[in-house]
Amino acid sequence: MKSRADGCARRAAVLRARMNQSAINFAPTRAAAQARLAGFLPLAGHYAAQRNFVRPGHDHVARLSPWVQKRLLLEREVVEAALGAWTWPAVEKFVQEVYWRTYWKGWLEQRPAAWARWVEAVPRQRDGLRGEQSNAWEAACAGQTGIAGFDDWAHELVATGYLHNHARMWFASIWIFTLRLPWELGAAFFYEHLLDGDAASNTLSWRWVAGLQTAGKTYAARADNIAHYTEGRCAPEAGQLARAAFAITEQPLPKVDAWTDDGWRTASAGASGDRVGLWLHAEDLAVEVGELAGDKFVAVNAAWPTGIAARAGWGERVTAWTQAALADGAVRATGHFGSEAKAGATNDLAAELVAWAREKNLRRVVAYRPFVGPWLDEAPAVERALGAAGVAVIWRRRAWDAELFPHAGHGYFPFWEKVKAEGKFTAGR
Ligand SMILES: Cc1cc2nc3c(=O)[nH]c(=O)nc-3n(C[C@H](O)[C@H](O)[C@H](O)COP(=O)(O)OP(=O)(O)OC[C@H]3O[C@@H](n4cnc5c(N)ncnc54)[C@H](O)[C@@H]3O)c2cc1C
Repeated sequence: MKSRADGCARRAAVLRARMNQSAINFAPTRAAAQARLAGFLPLAGHYAAQRNFVRPGHDHVARLSPWVQKRLLLEREVVEAALGAWTWPAVEKFVQEVYWRTYWKGWLEQRPAAWARWVEAVPRQRDGLRGEQSNAWEAACAGQTGIAGFDDWAHELVATGYLHNHARMWFASIWIFTLRLPWELGAAFFYEHLLDGDAASNTLSWRWVAGLQTAGKTYAARADNIAHYTEGRCAPEAGQLARAAFAITEQPLPKVDAWTDDGWRTASAGASGDRVGLWLHAEDLAVEVGELAGDKFVAVNAAWPTGIAARAGWGERVTAWTQAALADGAVRATGHFGSEAKAGATNDLAAELVAWAREKNLRRVVAYRPFVGPWLDEAPAVERALGAAGVAVIWRRRAWDAELFPHAGHGYFPFWEKVKAEGKFTAGR
């Protein structure tokens, strides 16, 4: 008799073969992002009814997240395009989902300890795995648990760098409550492989499933729900999944007020005559659009800090994608500002930026302030080194973030009501 694991392995092989035919193409360029957005717009009005289904190829959802995460495409551009193509009621759900990203970003800016705790926990949890739990962790990452669906999603994640939102929710729930593995290690597995891997969306979504984000409210994956929304492709037996979630607790997270510095919104690149450079990093790669577009930069630096991938825990595909996206951003910045962009890898980003600032005789360096996450972790050393060299660093923030992040201190729905009350959605046919 065939075991359940055999069946699952066969199913995973079939799925991998199917995925190869319908593999999602995520070219790391802004042009590819714009093409995907244009291709998805005719479907955006049907998103609300279709979004929860998990189908091969996933072309009923936008599949824009890797580009939006790097800001190769701006949230504002996605929302405006949807509103330009459809009536507000038709795209409300889609627009609401785009704002989830903004909400998570704003929430984490106010509670950066959620990121710091996760960063600290991952190696500790991994080193602490013993015996059966260690085997369960290895099986989960290899997609060899024998749980229908779960194993397919593990393979799909590793093979494509993408998972549908509903699959992410089921996967996280099974990881935590059925396999009883630490949520932090599940978030690390996602962060290693997701092309859209985001410090806020990933960490906070895992916390949400675990019941930490909304205290006591966990997300339990149900076998019938999985079977229904995968249209029968994945049908775990009900007994395979945990019947109930258990409580996970933590010390309250300190809240910081990240918006006292108005300079992020208003600081100009510098007094006229100053030589100002732009530091381009992979959290905002459409600098030719919006707040910085009208500034004058005599030089752009898009150096790749070689250690960041290991510090962040990115896998090879994520690293290569991010590096290529940065290169695409540098080319466009060069074209837009008419100034030379310095790219290439460095093992000391701060020293590289100081040497560049000296070579270009810069008085100031401007950058969009990275969000809480691996790029912000690079920022203090950069700021200190440039400061010591007599070069001021000016952090900027897009108006979108500066206006919306302060509303993200509590739950999503008060945030969403605030967004709607600000009347941004009167456009549309
Ligand atoms: C456990 C877990 C981990 C996740 N990790 C990430 C992550 O690292 N990076 C990431 O971008 N998203 C993450 N998400 C959110 C969501 O799953 C993805 O944004 C979405 O699946 C991307 O696919 P799409 O572009 O087709 O989205 P669509 O459903 O078409 O939505 C359009 C856009 O809205 C944004 N969006 C939609 N849903 C969400 C959401 N729930 N949270 C935040 N933004 C959203 C994305 O930018 C997305 O591209 C996670 C969700 C879960 C449950």
